[in-house]
Amino acid sequence: MADLSQISLLGLDRSELASLVDGLPEPPYRAKQLLEAVYRQRVESVEQISTLPQQLRLKLTEKGISIGLPRIEKRFVSQDGTVRYLIALADGQTVETVWMPEGDGGEAGDGSEAGEVAERYAESLTTAESRTLPEGNDPTPAPKRGTTPHRRTQGQNQGRSTICISSQVGCAVDCQFCLTALLGVKRNLTAGEIVGQVCAVLKDQNVSPPEDRINLVFMGMGEPFLNYDNFVKAVRLLVEEVGIAERRMTVSTAGIVPRIHDFGAEAIRPKLAISLNASNDALRTRLMPLNKKWNLEMLMAAAKAYPLRTREWITFEYVLLGGVNDGPENAKEVAELLRGMRCKVNLIALNPGPGIDFSTPDTERVAMFQKILREAGIPAFVRRPRGRDIYAACGQLKRTVEIATAPAP
Ligand code: SAH
Repeated sequence: MADLSQISLLGLDRSELASLVDGLPEPPYRAKQLLEAVYRQRVESVEQISTLPQQLRLKLTEKGISIGLPRIEKRFVSQDGTVRYLIALADGQTVETVWMPEGDGGEAGDGSEAGEVAERYAESLTTAESRTLPEGNDPTPAPKRGTTPHRRTQGQNQGRSTICISSQVGCAVDCQFCLTALLGVKRNLTAGEIVGQVCAVLKDQNVSPPEDRINLVFMGMGEPFLNYDNFVKAVRLLVEEVGIAERRMTVSTAGIVPRIHDFGAEAIRPKLAISLNASNDALRTRLMPLNKKWNLEMLMAAAKAYPLRTREWITFEYVLLGGVNDGPENAKEVAELLRGMRCKVNLIALNPGPGIDFSTPDTERVAMFQKILREAGIPAFVRRPRGRDIYAACGQLKRTVEIATAPAP
């Protein structure tokens, strides 16, 4: 049996928990109680696991076994309901996690497209409260009166809330428009820390899957495919223990080509998004230096070989930088690159930030880019920036906190 000192239960899967319980020694059913307490009830401390006898709680504590739920250090609430969290890990490092509540017009940043909104609406009809069609064209049930974006009653979440989670402290990929890149990479997150972000936010928002339909996007700090094993383990725990369906998750990669191949072979896998961000190699290498190692030809070959499931598509993200990659000629090149693929494009106007030497394009240019893609037969969506007033976008939270310009919590 491994050294039990300083063990966090969060991050352990069924078999690891079974062997921990076995080594205590305790009967096997205790493992199930621990799983339930950690991933479903999301208790904060071992002392709070009410299903265990007091003596066993003491024994666990004495052995240095803790839950390992990360602590919410700061919380900022945006006017649009977005909540960004600065989450503190056991070693004092912090990452950001963002909660985006329902009602963003069908583009929750989760790789879903407008068609899925109808599907979600159909799902929502199974609850008695939402049987009346809301006014207008938006098939989203109106939020229940009296609920605030923060703190709700379980079961009220009708399927559009998304949690954006981090996979690393900082990032090594060095994309020139990204604030996280400015931090460099400090370390990988453990599977427990990845799952822990979700558990901490679910607890804070008082929502609980699967009754509350939660989408997850691995689009926070870090490159998930450079922390592949922990990411894959976290996904498995999120699906099997926390209860979030894999089709409600999207992982975004900057284009770590060998891992795209590996990912396609995983039995449990979220939907795939690829950060394209440029329409030709020269431009992409300038914006994303990793393109020197894995160029567009390699990236597109991996995307084309990717084994899509029924009703699945690849999402390409394209951050539009004013006057740099947002011209009609770029849109035409993108259309050419993606021709014939089962995919869609999410266009994201740059979220500017300190230390970022690019500008946000005009709305007309964004619309023009979208139009060219659509005319070429490629579904293209413009993603609405969320939580701009609280710097919730893309690495801005930690960065802005670090340079001490953050608003008061
Ligand atoms: N490393 C992964 C996931 C994190 S970044 C990846 O690169 O995909 C998530 C998305 O945010 C990426 O599509 C990235 O291109 C985009 N992004 C990064 N910085 C941005 C900024 N300043 N404005 C808008 N989008 C940005």
